[in-house]
Amino acid sequence: MSAESELRRTFAIISHPDAGKTTITEKLLLLGQKIQEAGTVKGKKSGKHATSDWMEMEKQRGISVTTSVMQFPYNGRVVNLLDTPGHEDFSEDTYRTLTAVDSALMVIDSSKGVEERTIKLMEVCRLRDTPIVTFMNKLDRDIKDPIELMDEVEEVLNIKCAPVTWPIGMGKQFKGVYHILEDKVYFYKTGQGHIIQDEDILDGLDNPELDERIGSLAQDLRDELELVLGASHEFELEAFLKGELTPVFYGTALGNFGVTQMLNHFVEWAPAPLSRMTDVREVKSSEDKFSGFIFKIQANMDPQHRDRIAFMRICSGNYQKGMKMKHVRLNRDVQVANAVTFLAGDRSNLENAYAGDIIGLHNHGTIQIGDTFTSGEVFKFSGIPNFAPELFRSVRLKDPLKNKALLKGLIQLSEEGATQVFRPFNSNELILGAVGILQFDVVAHRLKDEYKVNCIFESVSVNTARWVECDDEKMLEEFKNKAGVNLALDGGDNLTYLAPTRVNLNLTEERWPDIRFNQTREH
Ligand code: GDP
Repeated sequence: MSAESELRRTFAIISHPDAGKTTITEKLLLLGQKIQEAGTVKGKKSGKHATSDWMEMEKQRGISVTTSVMQFPYNGRVVNLLDTPGHEDFSEDTYRTLTAVDSALMVIDSSKGVEERTIKLMEVCRLRDTPIVTFMNKLDRDIKDPIELMDEVEEVLNIKCAPVTWPIGMGKQFKGVYHILEDKVYFYKTGQGHIIQDEDILDGLDNPELDERIGSLAQDLRDELELVLGASHEFELEAFLKGELTPVFYGTALGNFGVTQMLNHFVEWAPAPLSRMTDVREVKSSEDKFSGFIFKIQANMDPQHRDRIAFMRICSGNYQKGMKMKHVRLNRDVQVANAVTFLAGDRSNLENAYAGDIIGLHNHGTIQIGDTFTSGEVFKFSGIPNFAPELFRSVRLKDPLKNKALLKGLIQLSEEGATQVFRPFNSNELILGAVGILQFDVVAHRLKDEYKVNCIFESVSVNTARWVECDDEKMLEEFKNKAGVNLALDGGDNLTYLAPTRVNLNLTEERWPDIRFNQTREH
């Protein structure tokens, strides 16, 4: 059983929107031969809709809102690729997805370099020292100087770069890549992006045939490599696994070139399922007993199944159809007969799954993000955060009689992480919080669709929120009395300070030095 788990490589792609995440996902699936012809994952520009995009909203807007999970075998390993929403408004889901992976693939648009969202996502990866593989994309365009690109990654993202492949030319002059570890040249052919290509390989950098094939570019390449190898780092597995060094590959996702070399090394180097911390002890993926945690809840992925699916990362043991597991927060045993796996939107019932795999549990409102399931032991996986919202709206009902349905809907949506809901101490108002503006649209859409509630969102004078904690009960009571106007309970009944302005927050923090104002809250 742990042998099965050892084969798992569970990762997500981090990138700035438009860097090529969807395109590379498509090629990875193609290489995994899950889909015969690339181009079916998404057609946000072609009108076809992506198999990994589920919700109607996604189709309408052509963006990926949900997180899907794709599994495919490759070179004797089993790859679990967790898709993350590309749109920045859905960053909370993305962040939580990163808690469920063991490594990440960073895709960079080589004509733009390191962009803002990549910086943010890397910060999240840093929290757990997640190993990162880098793919410099879009070599078929005019890009930045490849040496400068690597320098930029090193400086801005503070990680050492070890080039594994090196580009030969760029844009219209892009000829292929030189594989530094193999001492081989892989030649690029245009117009082959939609198929698995026959590789055109030449052995040896000093091979005179290279000069015949690419002319003066051959000598340029040799000169440049001398410089690069002198100035950059060599690949070291240990430093990679610690998140200190990233192997760098060059290519074009659209041309499906350079991706194979990257994936070959990825499945070889990326860690098998790692241990996870709980509040009691560390859980190793090789343990026999089952455990896992929920990192995402998603509703209505398939209009024919109007239930909600809770995504679980299995941390140890294995799942077998029909098994019993303990839902630790509720202290209740549940029998799970029909967990699902997600092959790009296609749900299939699952017989077995192992540590490192993601499974979907049908959720009838009892499962929350952050919940731990075990085979009996009592502990809770740590490190699955909620992020303080930065945007706020108050909710007004069009039909006041629907108040109960509204509250129920909002609490459920907040359990899923679709929004956060706050109930101020001193009023009957409901305040919604989000990290990205699009979340409000999703909530309005779903309230109407699933809970038959029509409501209007209005602006509200809240600038930011902090979860409040204090070890001193008496002081907390005093704070509640003095600061009551700005206090609220969130969807999980946690005490929250809703600050009307940043200045107000700063002053309040200064005035109450023994109270903790947390920017994240653990589920
Ligand atoms: P995402 O937003 O990160 O998922 O990016 P997409 O995969 O949707 O790519 C954004 C745009 O860049 C699309 O128009 C792609 O066709 C294009 N693109 C992706 N990879 C490449 C590449 O290697 N070369 C070129 N020229 N365009 C690319």
